[in-house]
Amino acid sequence: MEKIKLGISTCLLGENVRYDGGHKLDRFLTDTLGQYVEYVPVCPEVECGLGVPRESMHLEGDSDSPRLVTIRTKQDITDRLVKWAQKRVIDMEKEDLCGFIFKSGSPSSGMERVKVYNEKGMPVKKGVGIFARIFMEHFPLLPVEDEGRLHDPELRENFIERIFTLKRWREVLGKKESRGSVVDFHTRHKLLVLSHSPKYYQTMGKLVAKAKDLPLKELCQKYQTLLMESLYLKTSAKKNANVLQHMMGYFKEQLSSDEKQELLEVVDFYREDHIPLIVPITLINHYVRKYDQPYLKQQLYLNPHSLELQLRNHV
Ligand code: SF4
Repeated sequence: MEKIKLGISTCLLGENVRYDGGHKLDRFLTDTLGQYVEYVPVCPEVECGLGVPRESMHLEGDSDSPRLVTIRTKQDITDRLVKWAQKRVIDMEKEDLCGFIFKSGSPSSGMERVKVYNEKGMPVKKGVGIFARIFMEHFPLLPVEDEGRLHDPELRENFIERIFTLKRWREVLGKKESRGSVVDFHTRHKLLVLSHSPKYYQTMGKLVAKAKDLPLKELCQKYQTLLMESLYLKTSAKKNANVLQHMMGYFKEQLSSDEKQELLEVVDFYREDHIPLIVPITLINHYVRKYDQPYLKQQLYLNPHSLELQLRNHV
């Protein structure tokens, strides 16, 4: 797989672009995720022409449509940043981004819970940074996160799963699009989708079953929307246990009653939070290889990318 292209707030890469001339280097993003990713850095404040260092700023007014204002001299920067951002997101359409990692809390780059100050100078954490809002409205299906939320193992796993899956999907689209390649992609991702949402699993199954009745473009667009919406939903121990039990059904004939009992116990241990997901997955993978189970062999759920796999140690 080629590297995944992700937009990122420039200061997270260690560039000295912050208002005070500093940076917010995040080692996980540069050293770990960076091995799999090609970053497209974006610093709204510098790119719209404000220098380094510069006066610090914050959001003011209505939290749904706040103004970006410098704190000391009260200059309103909003229109300048909005004008630049509207053009920048159009330029970024060419980049083929699979997601964006924002700097948390920033009045320009924060994706949620950014402080917005009311007329009494009191903050409420309800705002979205000016650039982040325009980006997310322009690319509503792209996975986005901020570096703070990525310290949470479950949010991190979810984000990484979504960017890897979107990249695999883009590779399908990049080759010659055909109904067969959509069906093949869906077949390999079925259990991954099921682990997020049984409802989407059914809806996507129905869409793919009538693939022949739809124009190819429409099929691909509908499929991509459902795929991204489904993976956005959080997985859980209950949903994963459901998938693991579903997979056990493929070995009804081959496993001895002892082996079945052992597998059931391991799934229960996982469901009760005594062991991580990687343990039942490793055991099932062992049986997949031993009995050469063709359907499960191709499931991304069992064979995710190495980075995705490491993360299963934590959920
Ligand atoms: S938070 Fe955004 S605007 Fe601020 S320094 Fe980082 S990239 Fe630039």
